[in-house]
Amino acid sequence: AEEQLRQAQKMEAVGQLTGGLAHDFNNLLTGMMGNLELLQLRVARGRLDDLDRLINAAQGAGRRAASLTQRLLAFSRRQTLDPKPADVDRLIAGLDDMLRRTVGAGVEIDVVPSAGLWTANIDAGQLENAVLNLCINARDAMPDGGKIKIATDNAVVDERLGRELDLEPGQYVRVGVADTGTGMSVDTIRRAYEPFFTTKPIGQGTGLGLSMIYGFARQSGGQVRIQSELGRGTTVCIYLPRHHGVAETPAEEADRSPAESG
Ligand code: ADP
Repeated sequence: AEEQLRQAQKMEAVGQLTGGLAHDFNNLLTGMMGNLELLQLRVARGRLDDLDRLINAAQGAGRRAASLTQRLLAFSRRQTLDPKPADVDRLIAGLDDMLRRTVGAGVEIDVVPSAGLWTANIDAGQLENAVLNLCINARDAMPDGGKIKIATDNAVVDERLGRELDLEPGQYVRVGVADTGTGMSVDTIRRAYEPFFTTKPIGQGTGLGLSMIYGFARQSGGQVRIQSELGRGTTVCIYLPRHHGVAETPAEEADRSPAESG
């Protein structure tokens, strides 16, 4: 029954996903067709000046449509999880260059690793995607520049905190991405994990970032927590289940690890 429920929830998410994407995609196509029609009209009338603007607009819509389908493909690929013991600080360090290039010059990034950080049991590729997405969100929330801090630590979740977070009590590796941006309203926080919920202009936001991060964290046995204050900034924490063993062992060895079940 639980599996059925999960399947139903998945189907609902997929329905929302395809419905929303089709809508966005359609808007972009409409814009593109409109520009092409204008172009045709202008050419027919021999008015060949200033055609660049129309061509650029059509190309822009096409590019955004392409990136939308790319994200859909990435989203469907991400459905499968391949959890392995992972050194989270090392993963983040490996992303450093790309993150800096992605957020641009106006945004400072401070990476704060944690000595003695536990090993997490996660899909490394998905965590990389999650951190990248969080940094893109942070950048978008700081149009005039600001600071992103990516920090990790070991987190023990007791009964009380577990109830508060809706998380099994236990040991977790926590990854926090904090920004000094606009912050989120209570309503935005409430809806943030909904697939396709976005406050960004069309073509810029898909509303999939946080829903994918949430899906990844929950499927991994972890959780996501958003703390935000309007005008001050946002911190998103991902709780990842601890792996009891050595990082980056081959999968078979990790499977044999006696402490695995603990
Ligand atoms: P998208 O970024 O494509 O809009 P997300 O699911 O990642 O989709 O985020 C949903 C919404 O949550 C965003 O549109 C934005 O309003 C809000 N949000 C997410 N991260 C932040 C942040 N760091 N600061 C302010 N608002 C944020």
